[in-house]
Amino acid sequence: MATSPPASEAPALPLADRTIGEVSDLLRARKLSSVELVRACLERIARDGERLNTFLAVGDEAALEAARDADRALAAGDERPLLGIPYALKDIFVTKALDEAGQPLPGGLPTTAGSKILDGYRSPYASSAEDRLRAAGAILLGKTNCDEFAMGSSNENSAFGAVHNPWDESTVPGGSSGGSAAAVAAGEAFFALGTDTGGSIRQPASLSGIIGLKPTYGRVSRYGMVAFASSLDQCGPFARSVRDVALVLGAVAGHEPRDSTSVDTPVPNYAEALKGHVRDLRLGVPREYFVAGMEPGVEKAVRAAIDLLEELGAEIVEVSLPSTDKGLATYYIIAPAEASANLARYDGVKYGYSAGDDDLLTNYLRSRGQGFGPEVKRRIMLGTYALSAGYYDAYYLKAQQVRTLIKAEFDDVLEGVDALIAPTSPSVAFEIGAKTQDPLLMYLNDACTLPVNIAGLPGVSAPCGLSDGLPVGLQVIGRAFDEATVLRIADAYEQAAGFGSLRPPTAHD
Ligand code: GLN
Repeated sequence: MATSPPASEAPALPLADRTIGEVSDLLRARKLSSVELVRACLERIARDGERLNTFLAVGDEAALEAARDADRALAAGDERPLLGIPYALKDIFVTKALDEAGQPLPGGLPTTAGSKILDGYRSPYASSAEDRLRAAGAILLGKTNCDEFAMGSSNENSAFGAVHNPWDESTVPGGSSGGSAAAVAAGEAFFALGTDTGGSIRQPASLSGIIGLKPTYGRVSRYGMVAFASSLDQCGPFARSVRDVALVLGAVAGHEPRDSTSVDTPVPNYAEALKGHVRDLRLGVPREYFVAGMEPGVEKAVRAAIDLLEELGAEIVEVSLPSTDKGLATYYIIAPAEASANLARYDGVKYGYSAGDDDLLTNYLRSRGQGFGPEVKRRIMLGTYALSAGYYDAYYLKAQQVRTLIKAEFDDVLEGVDALIAPTSPSVAFEIGAKTQDPLLMYLNDACTLPVNIAGLPGVSAPCGLSDGLPVGLQVIGRAFDEATVLRIADAYEQAAGFGSLRPPTAHD
């Protein structure tokens, strides 16, 4: 059970390592300023950022200026819960860097999607998620490193180098939102946004010992998110407590008229939904999620978490999702197929990098050949093949049929239980380089997360202990648009288990 004391008895953590809940109380009591918070993060970035390779761009001047504005608003009694809180954005979200006339804005941040092919690209607009966070008073610190076009599970596919896990710097933080996860774990930001197409929020949250939520497809707008696989991509928060994640979700969720895939349903008050208990809930444990090859230490921690939820009064039942083992094959047809179409736009003419060849066809070929990294090329080839005449029915159509089956199995099981509990990842953080030569081994990382994207459901990962000194994640999967129950379970678990106060060795001043 709990190996760390409840937060209230633990010695106070350095400012940069506390939760939004803790620091916003201090902000409101005027015992702390937003400028101090931004400085605490910037100091961490200056101390550890280069070594961990977490950020691709930092906007310190703009952040400090926004913090001064936030301090004035706080002094005037503004009560917005994220007011004055510094955060980081995965570099897959565009950030406005050009004015209306197309001229560079001073301090405008580049957008790379972790790729050389966007070299020199400046976006003329901001993402919906960033717009909403700005309106909520949160302060953007900068853009975080990520796998190229969000393709990866270890953050080793970034054109800007691997990200290091603050728990053990020889290991990966998970991917593709590894920079966001490592930044939050290391106290470089109070929260961060990532994207999850097949696990890229939950898996790095698990490997980095923090909370990460993938909302229901359509819950948060994809407007301004560089597209990887449009029917799977979803934006979501990382933070150091479930309550913090609930606050951020509340700020970014909701219908966006500029995005036809965002859904027009009311956004509940997620923080109010955290009831602190699970006594009235029935939770399903899908037996297929304890996959072959799962590390014993991971299984042990997850089983202990399930026992704790039972002790807390939840009814635990074993359930079956028989098509789980088809998830990987289904995903690796659908995601590359959509990626091959989405990435056709990078042609050396419209955006970023150009090989500069006078002949148009040669320029297309060279720009793409030099601009894209090996994993992106592999996906484009896989996807193009799966969509080509003669193979479409055998691969793409078949994958869509299996997708429907996977979704139906979830819907069926979720009629009998309030949510599912499972491991997030079969392993803890692994050594940098350990799986790069074997794409199939790498793809297995997402065996427990991919099906949730295929079905479009919400899922959260929360720390449930350590194995070999590295964090393990517990995954809670819910019904569509029922993020409230998913967060409620993770929060009740976090309170009882005490793992909310786990921090990596970088957590000291
Ligand atoms: N690891 C998976 C992939 O490489 C998922 C990535 C993601 O969720 N963006 O495609």
